[in-house]
Amino acid sequence: MTTTLEKTALQQEGEKAVRSHEGRRVRPWPRREWRPGDACCALCAGPAEVLVDGVQDTRLGVPGQWDIVRCRDCGFEQTSPRASEAELTGLYETYYNHGGEPGTRYATLRERFFQSPLYRLMLWLDGDISFHTERGGGRRLLDIGCNEGRNLEFYRRAGFAAEGQEINSVAAQTARGRRFVVHTQPLAQLPPSAYDRIVMSQVLEHVLDPVDTLRECRRLLAPDGEIWISVPNARSWQRHVFGRRWINWHVPFHVSHFAADSLADVLQQAGFSVIGIKNASPAAWMAQSIIASIRRKPRGRSALLLGGFMLAAYGLLPLLWLGNGAGRGDCLIVKARRS
Ligand SMILES: [Zn+2]
Repeated sequence: MTTTLEKTALQQEGEKAVRSHEGRRVRPWPRREWRPGDACCALCAGPAEVLVDGVQDTRLGVPGQWDIVRCRDCGFEQTSPRASEAELTGLYETYYNHGGEPGTRYATLRERFFQSPLYRLMLWLDGDISFHTERGGGRRLLDIGCNEGRNLEFYRRAGFAAEGQEINSVAAQTARGRRFVVHTQPLAQLPPSAYDRIVMSQVLEHVLDPVDTLRECRRLLAPDGEIWISVPNARSWQRHVFGRRWINWHVPFHVSHFAADSLADVLQQAGFSVIGIKNASPAAWMAQSIIASIRRKPRGRSALLLGGFMLAAYGLLPLLWLGNGAGRGDCLIVKARRS
């Protein structure tokens, strides 16, 4: 419960943010709902200002509007208001239907596609955002947020001893049906130093406390272990082109919006040092941003529409690669090791 005194302090912070900002239209933050956790930046506790307002869920159609706010001190961007852990759990159960059951016609076709030369070509054109081209050599790997185990199949084929962690018990059960060990308990309950590699592909932006989660990952890694992370890039040029309809805002599910510097910062705070950082811009992501821009409300997936706009995106490949080279791609791919 937020007290009147706290509200006043928060409002003062918001007003200060507006006064101090030059030349850009900003509004006091938070403006809709007052929550103690919203008072400050999750990384440095600095005051924040609204950067993009009125963002809607363009993927799954969760009703409501959210703002993207930026810390005035360190530049870290977050979704506001932040959902609580209980709210997020409810939202995932309602809206995140994984639909990856093996044995269906769709799953069989997808599996065949993933083993085709066409998929290899796509990985080369798009960039490998899920570490599908890595080689295992028997190393122990944990895929956090493994969903129904689609990536685990790649890691197993590549020679990793691959396990998953997934809090969605239905998805975890599907992955177990593919003969994978899948942990549904929190990371804190897993044994220390048990893995050589930890993968978080499109996961870290979803968690409420990224530093704490990364610290847990560090504990789970062997002394020379590495963590491999991919997240949407908050410095992407596409976010400016698509504005509120940029597919990677993905409110309210994306809590943090990382840039290369903030990602390196959270890794460092958690006891990691960055080995390498790359940009990628998958054509499918751009296609989804285009579709979100022309459709007022999300409707079911249309493979034809997605495929058509993906081809259009591949037509812009020089532009996408140029953006990647300038650090303005749509996705950040980072490797770090325990420091
Ligand atoms: Zn900050």
